Amino acid sequence: ATPTAIMVGTGLGAESGILVKGGEHLELAHRVNTVVFDKTGTLTTGKPVVTDVWSADGVEQDDVLKVAAALEAQSEHPLGRAVVAYAKEHGVEIPSASEVQSVPGYGIRGMVKGARTRVGNRTWFVDANVTIPDDVLAAFESAGKTAVLVAQDERLLGAIAIADTLKSDVQGTVKELQTMGIEVWMITGDGARTAEAIAKLAGITNVMAGVLPAEKAAKVESLRHAGRVVAMVGDGINDAPALAAADIGIAMGTGTDVALEVADIVLMHGQTHGVVDALRLSKATMRKIR
Ligand code: ADP
Ligand code: MG
Repeated sequence: ATPTAIMVGTGLGAESGILVKGGEHLELAHRVNTVVFDKTGTLTTGKPVVTDVWSADGVEQDDVLKVAAALEAQSEHPLGRAVVAYAKEHGVEIPSASEVQSVPGYGIRGMVKGARTRVGNRTWFVDANVTIPDDVLAAFESAGKTAVLVAQDERLLGAIAIADTLKSDVQGTVKELQTMGIEVWMITGDGARTAEAIAKLAGITNVMAGVLPAEKAAKVESLRHAGRVVAMVGDGINDAPALAAADIGIAMGTGTDVALEVADIVLMHGQTHGVVDALRLSKATMRKIR
């Protein structure tokens, strides 16, 4: 590879908001045949909003929100922020919570008004022997919404449905990548039903759902071991190890500092189409070299 071609390529990238952190990444990117997208904050806007609150028999919707917001007020998770914003908008008085502990990939727990409470996903609640109303969750999840469950001790208080919209350019990006012969995957900590609904909207057929934050990197490794040349695209703290494990780590410029740090390429505008642009830039650069 001639240094001049690499320099020109890097410069062209920078002009269109594609920050390439070293010539070697530009040289490798043209060989990528597999792109793995994180869901929340990468394919979706990452600004989820509460759409429905369901409460169990004999429980007030307000009490579901009170417990959920009390815990989530101490969380930085986008789902937590959505719950707190909704509770505030609806004039819910948020009680204080103590001994709050967040459990990555599952949810958050703590004491509210002297009771042990938790807010989080199905897997976690099933493990804790909380009985789940599957019909309610099915309705939320098949619409692509994330169901956030709320419990006091082993008793389910209710569920909060949260929707996060696809970025407007996702469908076009996925189609172009597939036309380029690239295999497209979605990876998420969210449950299978929600993930499948979002993937379908995006045009993605390969889905890895219910992946714990600590397991994302191993999933990328396994694709590499199967002989794929993998670009991982993500935005969160959770994604950083997977970005590092990929042949090419691509971070959304809108993402967390850790993700930006470990990435090989940063898409400053945070739009998914930057992935197509980056791979094309690499191909063009390599053509000039040979
Ligand atoms: P993603 O991989 O889509 O970015 P995360 O790994 O951050 O998702 O979280 C995975 C799942 O864990 C979420 O979909 C949610 O069900 C649950 N979860 C994690 N943190 C919280 C929280 N603070 N409140 C409610 N649910 C949570
Ligand atoms: Mg994310």
